[in-house]
Amino acid sequence: MNTSVSDFVRDHLDGSHLQSHLSDAEKVEYREQIKALLKEQNAVLVAHYYTDPEIQSLAEETGGCVSDSLEMARFGKDHPAQTLIVAGVKFMGETAKILSPEKTVLMPTLEATCSLDLGCPVDEFSAFCDQHPEREVVVYANTSAAVKARADWVVTSSIALELVEHLHNQGKKIIWAPDKHLGAYVQRETGADVLLWDSACIVHDEFKAKGIEDLKKVHPDAAVLVHPESPEAVVKLADAVGSTSQLINAAKNMPNDVFIVATDRGIFYKMQQMAPHKRFLEAPTGGNGATCRSCAHCPWMAMNALDSLALELQQHSNEVHVDAALIEQAMVPLNRMLAFAEQLKAGKAAG
Ligand code: SF4
Repeated sequence: MNTSVSDFVRDHLDGSHLQSHLSDAEKVEYREQIKALLKEQNAVLVAHYYTDPEIQSLAEETGGCVSDSLEMARFGKDHPAQTLIVAGVKFMGETAKILSPEKTVLMPTLEATCSLDLGCPVDEFSAFCDQHPEREVVVYANTSAAVKARADWVVTSSIALELVEHLHNQGKKIIWAPDKHLGAYVQRETGADVLLWDSACIVHDEFKAKGIEDLKKVHPDAAVLVHPESPEAVVKLADAVGSTSQLINAAKNMPNDVFIVATDRGIFYKMQQMAPHKRFLEAPTGGNGATCRSCAHCPWMAMNALDSLALELQQHSNEVHVDAALIEQAMVPLNRMLAFAEQLKAGKAAG
């Protein structure tokens, strides 16, 4: 694990990020404040599925969006609001800024990052790419603006398989970064020649196949839903593998009443909303100790809270800035991703 990631894990993953520090009365008060401030500032709240359910419901109530990172990017770009407030992690704020440089992009905190982003420093990654100039560089959305600027393509997990298949069909060899598990999954599924960067998500990397098998014995009729950032042994146990949006659809459409879910538990809010009579169980993670290293919730996503969101709308102290030259470069692979996703959607609709 990259040093800065392990430092963070050591210093912050003590369980405290799982409990809201706000009373019910404070939550109501902050929600009202945020609603008024969004309206006053012609701002829109764009939230990821892994954020606190309080934030997800607020985004829905105020005409914002709750989604995966691909849809967050698309929504922020197309929405007429001049101010986007992004509840998620740093790369999501940067992506919003790259796609809408003329808009003000705010975040409840600029400290919320991602182990995949941290695990792929641009200098090392560029040197790696330079060693393999014959390969198409495909990077996951969970990367810095600088890494995106070095890439030919950006992808999210919702279109990773289709994009790599598309490149493979054109005879292209690929560099994939940064998530090694997702990259290996894409490689297995498409048969493409993929060279993997070595990094992982600290949440999904913790899911354990043995724990899921044991839980299946207790709930033999449960379907197992797995995000492909999880290790191969976990993916092998899945009844459905996919991005957050794809897993939500699976939860809604599969006939099972019980699901074992191997992704961040923030997703339960939307799953429960889409399938209110079904039951969702967290897939077991690392250990039995009460450390957050072994829980299914991203510590950085958990940094998005109602009070910091309200404060940011008052103070605008966490505005996302991206260097203009980087914006120009990173916009190319990002727009390629959006255009590819559009074509895919149109094709699916037509087919
Ligand atoms: S859940 Fe994993 S991939 Fe998602 S933001 Fe957190 S560390 Fe990054």
